[in-house]
Amino acid sequence: MTVDINMVVSLKYKLTNQQTGETIEETVADKPMEFLYGIERIIPTFEENIHGLKAGDAFDFGIVSSDAYGDRNETQIAHIPVSVFEVEDGKMNEQEVYVGALLPMTDSEGNHLRGKVMDITPEIVVMDFNHPLAGTDLHFVGEILEVRAATEEEINHGHSHGAHGHHH
Ligand SMILES: [Zn+2]
Repeated sequence: MTVDINMVVSLKYKLTNQQTGETIEETVADKPMEFLYGIERIIPTFEENIHGLKAGDAFDFGIVSSDAYGDRNETQIAHIPVSVFEVEDGKMNEQEVYVGALLPMTDSEGNHLRGKVMDITPEIVVMDFNHPLAGTDLHFVGEILEVRAATEEEINHGHSHGAHGHHH
């Protein structure tokens, strides 16, 4: 069987920064990545690169940032009044709000976002809401471990139900 729509693919990979060679993420031996090909939200260019492969096949390819998590966008940098972060006594919780901290935030439409604190002044907190991998060219090296037909239930649910699958 080869990697195609409605197949459950299990693979191992190492993701590095194409420019610096720095390791970003790597699957561990007993926890491969498993997903329902073409349905679960995987980077489309990643899926194109493994299309047609079978168990035992290796892969090695790069994805430019614009095809991965996009380029960094300056409009994703927000200047937020310090008052938003103040707790009851009018002071910020410095244990939580510091340069480099990743904070869960909610936008005006109620969407949950995670932002990184870039700078703190007496009036504002500068936060970066770009994806941490925005602007990064990615490089994937790995191997296809298993390809199997998805069950009807998996197709209906839109995700795989593997040994390391999710909980309902
Ligand atoms: Zn399910």
